[in-house]
Amino acid sequence: MNDYPTWFVQEAPGSHGPAIVRLFEDGAQKFVLARELLDAMERAQMMSAELWKTEVMENMPELATFDFMELFKMLDKKDMQEIEFVRTPIRRTKHRVIFIPYHAGGYIIPAVDLLMELIHDTISVRKILQDVTEDKLSIICDILLNCFTTEEVKDLRFVKLTQVEKMKKDVLTQLQERVPDAFLKHKQEVYRVGLQGFTLKDLQNELERLGLVKTFPFIVEDYSEFVFEWTELEKKEEVLRTCDMHDALELCQRYALLSRHMELVDFLHYSGACSRLKMKCHRCRDAAAAKKEQTEKELEEKKGEGSNCQKEDDQVETLEKKLAAIDPNSETVAET
Ligand SMILES: [Zn+2]
Ligand SMILES: [Zn+2]
Repeated sequence: MNDYPTWFVQEAPGSHGPAIVRLFEDGAQKFVLARELLDAMERAQMMSAELWKTEVMENMPELATFDFMELFKMLDKKDMQEIEFVRTPIRRTKHRVIFIPYHAGGYIIPAVDLLMELIHDTISVRKILQDVTEDKLSIICDILLNCFTTEEVKDLRFVKLTQVEKMKKDVLTQLQERVPDAFLKHKQEVYRVGLQGFTLKDLQNELERLGLVKTFPFIVEDYSEFVFEWTELEKKEEVLRTCDMHDALELCQRYALLSRHMELVDFLHYSGACSRLKMKCHRCRDAAAAKKEQTEKELEEKKGEGSNCQKEDDQVETLEKKLAAIDPNSETVAET
């Protein structure tokens, strides 16, 4: 075995070595697995490991995480310097996250990706939301929401792959049992887009034809324009294709579904997924508004002081630029 630990190999208990910990990066967020950190501290025979084990970690769930910035408050400087943090960006393909090896064996994925997979599966693969009545829709939402309030997943950033498979099966069984007609009924296929592409009107017609307006009465007016603009921006070819229509339809349904459940929007927000998923998020909006107000206040104060030196004029200019740059949908604003 080489001297650099590979994460695919389970370390023998009681083995010694340097403290190496993965520093996960997901968008603007940086965090470590608490258990992996503790194991690394023990492996390196760090003095604080025992204390950490009994006082910090005792009642923590196995997959608990710490924000990287928090660690600076929790560990002393010497310990922080002794630990080698290995940058580990979380990577994704279009509909999937790349599995992350768990240091004690098996794999994990971010809980936010489990939610997105479940939604993708419900919306695009099984097309369950076509022409659904309000009471059935509530049940479907309930089934999805319940997954994320169980003890194994609640407030956690990661889920074990074994748990993921179990939850997916669970959702499927529940859909079959609780909304059997929505699950089994014949589904409309998305039409094949011609060589000339499709327009906003075509997307709106498709929402209507697939019975999605019956499920979500406001889906056309609330989401179709925004989603169409986004689809135009993201398209990979000259014209919009069938796969773009699929994406646009999924996005409209995802917005409509999530807008019913602020808990899920909050969950995505605290996972730092808002800008990546093009979420319309009330928390990001509030954070941006608060920041705007703050900057405006600073600007007023600076202007009110009646500056006559270049340095202060520069400050005013910087603040004005800052103000112009605040984007209500930007995640970085919310993080500050
Ligand atoms: Zn709700
Ligand atoms: Zn947000």
